[in-house]
Amino acid sequence: MANPLYDRLFGIHAGKDTPFLYLPDGQTLTHAAFLDMTAQIANALTGYELEPGDRVAVQVEKSPEMLALYAACAQTGLIFLPLNTAYTTTELRYFIENSGAELVVCDAAKEQDLTPIAAAQNARLETLNADGTGSLMRRALGMLPAFEPVKRTEDDLAAFLYTSGTTGRSKGAMLTQANLLSNAQTLVQEWHFTKDDVLLHALPIFHTHGLFVATNVVLASGGSMIFLPKFDLDEVLRWMPKATSMMGVPTFYTRLLGDERFTGDLSRHMRLFISGSAPLLAETHERFEARTGHRILERYGMTETNMNTSNPYDGERRAGTVGFPLPGIELKVTDPETGADLPQGEIGMIEVRGPNVFSGYWQMPEKTAAELREDGFFITGDLGRVDEDGYVHIVGRGKDLIISGGYNIYPKEVELVLDDQPGVLESAVIGVPHPDFGETVLGILVPKPGEALDPDSILTNVQNVLARFKHPRKLIVVDELPRNTMGKVQKNALRETYESLFTKG
Ligand code: ATP
Ligand code: MG
Repeated sequence: MANPLYDRLFGIHAGKDTPFLYLPDGQTLTHAAFLDMTAQIANALTGYELEPGDRVAVQVEKSPEMLALYAACAQTGLIFLPLNTAYTTTELRYFIENSGAELVVCDAAKEQDLTPIAAAQNARLETLNADGTGSLMRRALGMLPAFEPVKRTEDDLAAFLYTSGTTGRSKGAMLTQANLLSNAQTLVQEWHFTKDDVLLHALPIFHTHGLFVATNVVLASGGSMIFLPKFDLDEVLRWMPKATSMMGVPTFYTRLLGDERFTGDLSRHMRLFISGSAPLLAETHERFEARTGHRILERYGMTETNMNTSNPYDGERRAGTVGFPLPGIELKVTDPETGADLPQGEIGMIEVRGPNVFSGYWQMPEKTAAELREDGFFITGDLGRVDEDGYVHIVGRGKDLIISGGYNIYPKEVELVLDDQPGVLESAVIGVPHPDFGETVLGILVPKPGEALDPDSILTNVQNVLARFKHPRKLIVVDELPRNTMGKVQKNALRETYESLFTKG
């Protein structure tokens, strides 16, 4: 094949007048029309003196044009590098500098801020406005809707994606064509996606979840998606009758459950709800099933590997687990200190190997060498265990492990006990500096709406269930936990807030 990613993900739809995107304003874009737009953008890109392998940093609002730019980068052999739309100018300066992008594409509103940043990098700056007013779109609209894909191989890089920055500064993960393709094809099979599927897509498309999982699965199966700019409850409920499936982060599901208009009737015709990016509470699982009859399918992935595991389509979707390793992907649990394999059932570092594993962090050779073993296993940074039936349980991040007085404490174990207490909606457990123990356990609780919490009685309950060294030294009640756009709890932010709780004053 001349260009595997383009040919197998996009090119297969050439000439297909079937819907690809249903847009909020009621318009529909067919696969054929999408590919015409892609080819026009590819033709426009060739005028910018870029070489295959050059990086295109893209910070634009979610739009069909942004997806077409992704496809056009595949077609022209450029590396697509989407950036979070929430990034400030300071953050953008870092990412554009760090990535060494040759072309920067933004919306007109950001042009002024980005001009000096791009200039300092000797990068070209173009605007992509969805209504055709941006410089790139104006140029593209004058081009022929046909373009011969540039020759590439599966080992060529296709995208750089920066990690979410939950545990520190975001890292640029280098992804090959094979990484993206292998996952897309596996997931279509595992989740039974077909050309008749209509995926409700309310995720951002600058993360792996919305782009390399949701969008690629729809492309690989030839289906369509309802392409909403964000998760707006009114819009999601309005479009749901047309959808067959939805992919979301746990907060999508808790928000749906918080709205009475979301009834079993509204979702009965759907065939699949998938959750990932952050842990789905068992309580959300049960409430969702009670309301709709649907059992959410939870899966586990990351920027560096796309998807690693999934609960089964047929068979038990086990709450509190992320299911089994996907076909072709090996998963093992190792001792975080020695790297030795651990026996089944024990908690340790999750490592994965397979065609989904990235080829390294951009300009971080030491980090790459430390986390990507020579035998191909990637040390994910997540701690977990495999239960007796083979289901993988994530118990938290290695970086969140609390070491108090020489004991290891997995925050998840304490959080599960706290979540079960009367009136508790959810909790976060962190380690904070302590003069005697190095670190100690702090529990942060969010009450259920309209309920008051009694931290003292909760503490007594917890003390009856957990070994002494795991007891939270203190419980703090807050209205909500700090989360990023993907619903991940920002434990770094919590640690900063409470870092001197026991060491000062
Ligand atoms: P950074 O690597 O920059 O600290 P990040 O790890 O949050 O940020 P992502 O690659 O977007 O960046 O997220 C992947 C992480 O999300 C996984 O390593 C895991 O910790 C978490 N995750 C994803 N899916 C699940 C899930 N179903 N259950 C629990 N955790 C999950
Ligand atoms: Mg990570």
